[in-house]
Amino acid sequence: MSAAPLTRERLSLNQRTLGPEVDLKTAVDATARAGFAGIAPWREHVTAMGRQAAARLIRDAGLKVSGLCRSGFFGPGARPEDGVPADRELADAVDDAAEIEAAAVIVVGGGAGTDIDAARARLQDGLAATLPIAAAAGVRLALEPLHPMTAADRGCISTIAYALDLAEALDPENRVLGLALDAYHVWWEPYLARDVARAADRIDALHICDWRLPTRDLLLDRGLPGDGVANPRRLRSLAEAAGYRGLVEVEVFQPELWALGPAAIAAAARDAALAHG
Ligand code: ZN
Repeated sequence: MSAAPLTRERLSLNQRTLGPEVDLKTAVDATARAGFAGIAPWREHVTAMGRQAAARLIRDAGLKVSGLCRSGFFGPGARPEDGVPADRELADAVDDAAEIEAAAVIVVGGGAGTDIDAARARLQDGLAATLPIAAAAGVRLALEPLHPMTAADRGCISTIAYALDLAEALDPENRVLGLALDAYHVWWEPYLARDVARAADRIDALHICDWRLPTRDLLLDRGLPGDGVANPRRLRSLAEAAGYRGLVEVEVFQPELWALGPAAIAAAARDAALAHG
């Protein structure tokens, strides 16, 4: 199975691809100028600007929002940055997402700490409490399975099947709970084709990048599409065969790239995605 070539009208750029310190204004300018159709801002940058100003900035640049990164740290430390209770933080992210018209809030679940069963129970309870808030705001929550290497400290939603089990149990009518599929995190799954097909109309976001071999760092070595072994085009093909028609977001974290500056990074991300995504 092979997807039709990716076009710029489908392309979005994750803000952090440009570097963690690049502010939203700079990111929006670089993203729009490189010809992307959308952007995925990070919450701290939306907060720094104010959600209404952020919404105006993104809209005026003609960009859509493929997702709001990221929330739902129900791990032992709540949100690692400041200890805000995770359910309150997620409800706040829902308000941001509504204002900037994000396709979804990206929910990573939080780390397990010393008790992964307890962490997953907290995640389930926290999602259940947030569902009515998200439904009232018309905002979707996209559970993002993260690679199991992150389960202890960041993301205990480790597989597509587990994310779908959660979504179907808590939200059987698919009003709010969907999935974000990220090539970096799910490329290795033995039942990828079967589980992406099962995800179908719950797929709210598609993140492309690559798994470099050898991997030099477990967080900051996400390569550009085509730069590794994850085959992001295969994931896109499977998602589109399952009915996904949304934006395709390039999400790469790589300090070597950050040194190039926003304009050059955006151009490189665009070209790599068009060639390999
Ligand atoms: Zn992602």
